Amino acid sequence: MGRAKRVSFGPLFVDAGSLTMTSFAASEVALAPAFIEKSPLERYAAPAQPSLVGMSRELLAQALSEVGVPERQRRMRVQQIWHWLYVRGAQDFDAMTTLSKVLRGALAQRFTLARPQIAAEQISVDGTRKWLLNLPGERADAPHEVECVYIPETDRGTLCISSQVGCTLNCTFCHTGTQRLVRNLTAAEIAAQVVVARDRLGDWLAAQPPASAGGVRGAAHEPEKRLVSNVVMMGMGEPLYNFEAVRDGLNVVADGDGLSISKRRITLSTSGVVPNIGRAGAEIGSMLAVSLHAVTDELRNQLVPLNRKYPIRELLDACRNYPGLSNARRITFEYVMLKGVNDSLADAKALVRLLKGIPAKINLIPFNPWPGTKYECSDWDQIERFSEVIFAAGYASPVRTPRGRDILAACGQLKSASEKLSARERLALRAMAMTD
Ligand code: SF4
Repeated sequence: MGRAKRVSFGPLFVDAGSLTMTSFAASEVALAPAFIEKSPLERYAAPAQPSLVGMSRELLAQALSEVGVPERQRRMRVQQIWHWLYVRGAQDFDAMTTLSKVLRGALAQRFTLARPQIAAEQISVDGTRKWLLNLPGERADAPHEVECVYIPETDRGTLCISSQVGCTLNCTFCHTGTQRLVRNLTAAEIAAQVVVARDRLGDWLAAQPPASAGGVRGAAHEPEKRLVSNVVMMGMGEPLYNFEAVRDGLNVVADGDGLSISKRRITLSTSGVVPNIGRAGAEIGSMLAVSLHAVTDELRNQLVPLNRKYPIRELLDACRNYPGLSNARRITFEYVMLKGVNDSLADAKALVRLLKGIPAKINLIPFNPWPGTKYECSDWDQIERFSEVIFAAGYASPVRTPRGRDILAACGQLKSASEKLSARERLALRAMAMTD
């Protein structure tokens, strides 16, 4: 066999022979300069005994048909299992007492209730928690890793979840961008991140004490009283390059008879995959956040190379047309503060002009440096001056008090590779900046 062809993806080199592509990425990569997008290097290898956790109603119905449940019973059985999985957080088929023993046995023979395994957990003194999760890899001894970050606040608890292992894109200020795209998460893996968080936090209906014992009556159905009340999809990956899985996973998360986190409490963050923005509004209907980071195409081409394909004007047009956009449903624009790069007051004024007419919030994110980066975080005074310009123009522009600083510092003491640590820090910082 001849030598595999080496293909350049910006700072990365991968063997062309080992590439597999999603249908969307395959067509896009053919048209685009190679440095804009990467292709998955591995495939999802389903475990021999699949887990029901994270499955949609359709997949559960299919699972029931595989164990011989007649079609006329499936809808009712799906509803029962849905309740056990997503309201009670059942971890054992035997707990599903509304199902017959025979059916529980048949399900247990063919399926599991396994969740992504927590490989590491860090808990900050301020309550922020980070979980490193293992997902199935192509080889059993080499799991894939993603992160979840949970940020509790007085009126809500926000969970930041991932959509890809690695990322399709290569934003130059983001350490995940320098990593390979290993694979897309499945829809079930996306929803299962919420299940893991509820497990770990004891946030299931069954775990709540009755009102007579000091519990909150009906808390399970009052989102603001649940520990995980909000979800932001801004962990690893570009969600709109894994569209169907993200859509299906978030639909499980938002289902009112289950995990019950409404679409208004779910925010999907994109770097600007313009063709899928309108589709996200129509088919997902969550809140939208856009990683803008620059006010000119020249600079955004450098920071977010995807901008060469979908420049600012097209991106903002897609935002203006986002289904359901209103003052009550504003788009959040994320803007990472890079010293001497995008943080002048002229930039702030240009940002205000650019967003004119779009119901918007602007989140300023202090940059978190990682080894090898050429960028620095803007000085705090400059961030405040920048924020004042935006605030004076009538936009909320929160710069969040950094959370979980102690566990970010502790990252360096873990055994993982330094690039994973940096990705973790970035992810936590972005999540912190988005809890407004
Ligand atoms: S900022 Fe987001 S889309 Fe850009 S490389 Fe990082 S994870 Fe990917």
